[in-house]
Amino acid sequence: MPTKAKKKAKSAGLKRARAPQRVSAVKSGGAAKGAGAARGIERDLLARLKAGAVICAEGYVFELERRGYLQAGAFVPEVLFEHPEVVEQLHLDFVHAGSDVTEALTYYVHREKLRVIGREKDLAAMNRIALRIARKVARRTGTLFAGDLCNTNIYDPNDAKALKEVERIFDEQVGWAVEAGVDFFVAETFAWAGEAELALKAIQRQSKAPAVVTFAMHQEAILRDGLTPAEACRRLEQAGADVVGLNCHRGPATMMPMIRDIRAAVKCHVAALPVPYRTTPQQPSFMALTDPCCDNRRAFPVGLDPFLATRAEIFDFGREAFALGARYLGVCCGAGPHHIRALAESVGRHPPASRYSVDMSRHAYFGTDRMIRRIQTEYRDKA
Ligand SMILES: [Zn+2]
Repeated sequence: MPTKAKKKAKSAGLKRARAPQRVSAVKSGGAAKGAGAARGIERDLLARLKAGAVICAEGYVFELERRGYLQAGAFVPEVLFEHPEVVEQLHLDFVHAGSDVTEALTYYVHREKLRVIGREKDLAAMNRIALRIARKVARRTGTLFAGDLCNTNIYDPNDAKALKEVERIFDEQVGWAVEAGVDFFVAETFAWAGEAELALKAIQRQSKAPAVVTFAMHQEAILRDGLTPAEACRRLEQAGADVVGLNCHRGPATMMPMIRDIRAAVKCHVAALPVPYRTTPQQPSFMALTDPCCDNRRAFPVGLDPFLATRAEIFDFGREAFALGARYLGVCCGAGPHHIRALAESVGRHPPASRYSVDMSRHAYFGTDRMIRRIQTEYRDKA
């Protein structure tokens, strides 16, 4: 870390990890190519993981919903057509905050989801727009360009017709991603081990790019086909997945024990991308959270605000997960750029947004700077 950055890091309010590694393609600025490029590993996920943590911002649909560009419920990013510039800016915001990955917003842009909202005819165009935007940002910022596959919501191990349709959904989305030249694939948010395996096979049929495959655990500690996440991850590793782990649904507190089990069960890299919510052993997933201030109604999806994790909590999560040996780290639905910055800082990074990380020394009441007048600091306890 350059001296100037060190000074900044020291003055920041968040406690900071010693840099376990230095590969950050974005640390030198949003538009500039960074250290990754200099080392020739800019587009190589596995080389980056070998060198240290890889931060992947996720949760685009939740953030776009909060910004008023996407409807909660179906959660289909029609914003890709209506306001592509908003999607592009969100990618840039996440990179500015420390994401090493620009992941195409093709989550829930598959045939089944578009069928549900009556826009199946727009399937190819919407995928291509998402990939084009992400590619543009990735190439401009020196971040990894990822394609995305996700839960289809029709997977049924006992329905041959449904299984065929799941394969078709994965095949066509992999095809568009290959066409766009993705650096690697993310296949995520699966509640069935079998569905994840189909996604991995679809990737392997058309591409040699690395695959990150992650499960989303609901309230039960097992997947819907009965395997523990550690068992399912071991199977994925054996099937050729490069990174396995968990994303979404669970907050750091209820995801971490499972990450520990997965780390012990596999030799490959492990991914941990929790939601930034305070889930509990009684309500381990964000869909299960109920709000005592609102007649104990289900808080998901638009009443989750009171459960939101602070930056410090995400910082602690990042430190703990990295110490545990999970190197592919992110935050899923509910994440804002401030969470990604805290996560990046937890592994010793100093992304451009860290320039504005909290520094209370010059605060009007709580400041310690000599310019702060005593009339203010003496009033501190009443502020
Ligand atoms: Zn999510």
